[in-house]
Amino acid sequence: MSKRIHYTRPSITALEVSYATDAAANGWGDRCYEYIQRFERQFREYLGVGHAIATSSGTGALHIGMAGLGIGAGDEVILADVSWIASAAPIIHLGAKPVLVDVLEDSWCLDPAKVEAAITPRTRAILAVHLYGNLCELDALLDIGRRHGIPVIEDAAEAIGSTWHGRRAGSLGVFGAFSFHGTKTITTGEGGIFVTNDDALHERVLTLSNHGRARGETRQFWPECVGFKYKMSNLQAAIGCAQLERIDELVARKRHVFERYRSALAGLPLAMNPEPPGTTNGYWMPTIVVDRSVSFDREALLAAFKANDIDGRVFFWPLSSLPAFRDATPQPVSHSLAPRALNLPSYHDLEDEDVTRVATIVREALGRS
Ligand SMILES: *Cc1c(COP(=O)(O)O)cnc(C)c1O
Repeated sequence: MSKRIHYTRPSITALEVSYATDAAANGWGDRCYEYIQRFERQFREYLGVGHAIATSSGTGALHIGMAGLGIGAGDEVILADVSWIASAAPIIHLGAKPVLVDVLEDSWCLDPAKVEAAITPRTRAILAVHLYGNLCELDALLDIGRRHGIPVIEDAAEAIGSTWHGRRAGSLGVFGAFSFHGTKTITTGEGGIFVTNDDALHERVLTLSNHGRARGETRQFWPECVGFKYKMSNLQAAIGCAQLERIDELVARKRHVFERYRSALAGLPLAMNPEPPGTTNGYWMPTIVVDRSVSFDREALLAAFKANDIDGRVFFWPLSSLPAFRDATPQPVSHSLAPRALNLPSYHDLEDEDVTRVATIVREALGRS
């Protein structure tokens, strides 16, 4: 039996263990928010934003942020047909309607022309999901947003370490949301964070995130509205503080793994995550999209991975192909990408020879061994 290659796994060192141990032993009572506050401060500094609220999940960060924008019944939010359902679920929970539009063939992210064409008087936000670390066309989307008076939200759950012309993904929209799920580039087990530069939005979201209790309220247990409970625990934040101290190393490793794949797969009829000039890709998930002209059996490649103790992972199904979105119009590029695409394993401790093992199987599947 060869060594099992997982599709992703966290990198937990003595630093994470020591912070978590300290939080478990001492992080209670008066000190129960210490690591949370430290994590939020570290994250603000890393991202270059004014405000951050740690949450129990990326989905929760999106939910409280959208609620803070006042998105509700009858409103529409535009997003790509290709994403994880977590991007769309908060829209539906708020009673609003996700409007699915197509993606660009090379970035697998929102097509700005399709976004503009989908705007109606009910549009309340554009949700830009940076898929697998790839960046949306942020300048074009922010420009559309400005011209129509519609905020752009960044779902940067997969894009820590990605930068857009010198600014970090997640820091450019009206707010950004990150996830620290165990599969993401930095993890707290489960967790997320809401970030913004908008003082008023931050204040509203802070109140909503604390069961509707405003910061300046002097009465105990006095909510001014019905809010949410999506808080990160101090224990999780302790692990997050250690991960953030190691963020440059963790992102560098993701980039190293990607570059190894890129050279090992050179010459094959496929595309991988792009990195346009002026941007950096955090390469959360190295992804291959086989050229349309080539006949490719995704299931056969997944089976070959499995036979070789390698975890393969399908590209996200278009949301419009899922039962919950049966009324949505299927978007052609999104539907064309999914059956031709796969995510390849990537994590801190993946070794160069593991990449070679994976690449060999991809080569064999494409008949170029
Ligand atoms: C992981 C992810 C989320 C949600 O994060 P959770 O922490 O799992 O709630 C949202 N959007 C995208 C694109 C994701 O990949």
